[in-house]
Amino acid sequence: MNTFDLLILGGGPGGYPLALRMAKHGWKVGLVDYPASVGGTCLNWGCIPTKALLASAQMYHCLKTADSYGFGVNSPNFDWSRIQDRKNAVVTRLRGGIEQLFKKNGVTFFPGRATLLTDTEIQVEFEGKFQKLQSKKIVLAIGSEPSVPAIFPQDRSLFWTSDEALHTKEIPPSLLIAGGGVIGLELGQVFAEFGAKVTVVEMMPQILPGLDTATAKRLLPVFRKLGLEILVGQKVEDLQETDSQVSASIAGEKRMFAKALLAIGRKVNLSCLHGSDLELNLENGKIKVNENFQTSVNSVFAIGDAVVGPMLAHKASYDAMILSQQFMGVNVKPSYKAVPSCVFTYPEVSWVGLSEQEAKEFAPNAKVGKFMFSANGKALASGESEGQIKTILDENGKLLGSIIWGPEASNLITEPTLMRQLDISAHDFTSVIHAHPTLAEAFLESVENALGEGVHG
Ligand SMILES: Cc1cc2nc3c(=O)[nH]c(=O)nc-3n(C[C@H](O)[C@H](O)[C@H](O)COP(=O)(O)OP(=O)(O)OC[C@H]3O[C@@H](n4cnc5c(N)ncnc54)[C@H](O)[C@@H]3O)c2cc1C
Repeated sequence: MNTFDLLILGGGPGGYPLALRMAKHGWKVGLVDYPASVGGTCLNWGCIPTKALLASAQMYHCLKTADSYGFGVNSPNFDWSRIQDRKNAVVTRLRGGIEQLFKKNGVTFFPGRATLLTDTEIQVEFEGKFQKLQSKKIVLAIGSEPSVPAIFPQDRSLFWTSDEALHTKEIPPSLLIAGGGVIGLELGQVFAEFGAKVTVVEMMPQILPGLDTATAKRLLPVFRKLGLEILVGQKVEDLQETDSQVSASIAGEKRMFAKALLAIGRKVNLSCLHGSDLELNLENGKIKVNENFQTSVNSVFAIGDAVVGPMLAHKASYDAMILSQQFMGVNVKPSYKAVPSCVFTYPEVSWVGLSEQEAKEFAPNAKVGKFMFSANGKALASGESEGQIKTILDENGKLLGSIIWGPEASNLITEPTLMRQLDISAHDFTSVIHAHPTLAEAFLESVENALGEGVHG
C-alpha cells in the first residue's frame, strides 16, 4: 500500500499550502481532492471566480460612467459568454500554478473522493476505482458547501446556490437573492450591473451581519442607489416553481422572479465520514479540534472552514501555516484576534477586530476616530471619494477595531490588521511615514483623529 508521512483531504487554501510547506520540509505528502482538481472552493467556486466577475462588472460600470472622467463612450455593451471565458481563464491559470508547484515540490496528487477508514488509512474512489492509502498523519481540509435548508425546493434549474450562479450561461431578467451577506451582495452586484432586476432579502435587521451596525446602515442607500433592491429584517418564507418562474413569499407578499439564489450560509462538507467507522467529535456542525488542530482521534487533524472560526480563505491558509509549524515542533498556537473580513463590492467594505458597538461594551472609554475619503487627495483624484474609515482605540491607544468602506478597503485593512495582530500602539503607528498621495493616509488620519491629534479632522 502507498504510505505517506502526511495525507491531506482537500486542496483548497487550507490543504494545498500545508502540502507544499510540509513537502518543502522533506515530508512525503499526498493530497486528495474531489472533484478532480486543486484550489478548493476558493479557486473554483468562491473567492477567485466572484472577483473575476466583479472586475468585469466594475469595468462595465466605469464605461457607463466614463463621462465624469472626460470620456465620450457611446452605448457600452457586453458579451456574457466572453466574461465567463475570462473568469474561467483566470481560474485555470491559477489552478495550473498550484499543479506545477505540486510537481516541483514532490506532492502526490490523487483525484477522487476520500473516505476516512481508520486513524491512519483512507480510501480514494475515482471513476469507479478504489485505492487505499496509509499515513502517519491525516489532515482534513475538506472545506464547506452551500447550505440549502429542506424548506427550500432542491430543484437546481431555477434555484441557484453560488456554485450554479457563478457558472450561469445567461443573466436572468430578475433574480431573488435570499441572504444579504457577503456572497449575496457580491453576486447581487454582478447580476444587477449586467441588467438583472435584483432583490436581496436579509432576515437580520442589517445587511452584512457581523459588520459595525452604523456602517451597515450607512451602506444600505449606497447599494440601493447602485441598483439593488434590498429588504432587511424580512424573510423569504416560501419558494415554489410556477410556470418556469420562481414564486416567492416575502413578509406575506407573493412575488415572481426568473431565478432565486440561496446565499444563506455554508456547512462543513463531511462526505469523508460517510460510510466510515471512525467517529470524530463535532461542535455546532464543525469538526472539534484542540489548539494543535487535533481532532478527537490523535493522528487526524482538521483546518480551515471545517473547524471553528470564520469561513474565509486567509483563515484557512493561516491555520495551515500554524499547523505546519506545529508539525515541525514549534510551540505556537493560533490566534484569531485579527482576522480581516472583506466585501469586494464597489464600494468595497472591510473590517477587523471589534465593531463600535462591541468596543463600547467591552471598553467604555474607547476612542473613535473617523476620516472621510472625500477629504483624501488620492480618493478625490481617482473619482472614488465616497466612503469612510472608522478606527477604535482603547484608552492605552491599542487598536480594538477598524471599519473601512470605500476605495481599496480590502487592501487598506492590512494596516489595522497589523496593528492589532502585533499589538502596535497608535502612537508608534502614527510615527510611520505614509506616502503621499495615497489612500493609506486616510487610515493614518483616522488613527490621529482617534488620538485627538488629527490635522484635518
Ligand atoms: C461565492 C464565494 C465567495 C467567496 N469569497 C471569498 C473571499 O473573497 N475571501 C475569502 O477569504 N473567502 C471567500 N470565500 C470562502 C472561501 O472560499 C473558503 O473560506 C475557503 O475556500 C475555505 O478553504 P478550505 O481549504 O478550508 O476549504 P475549501 O476551499 O472548501 O476546499 C476543500 C476541498 O476539499 C474537497 N473535499 C471535501 N471533501 C472531500 C473528500 N471526501 N474527498 C476529497 N476531497 C474532498 C472539496 O471538494 C474542496 O475542493 C468565498 C466562498 C464562496 C462560496
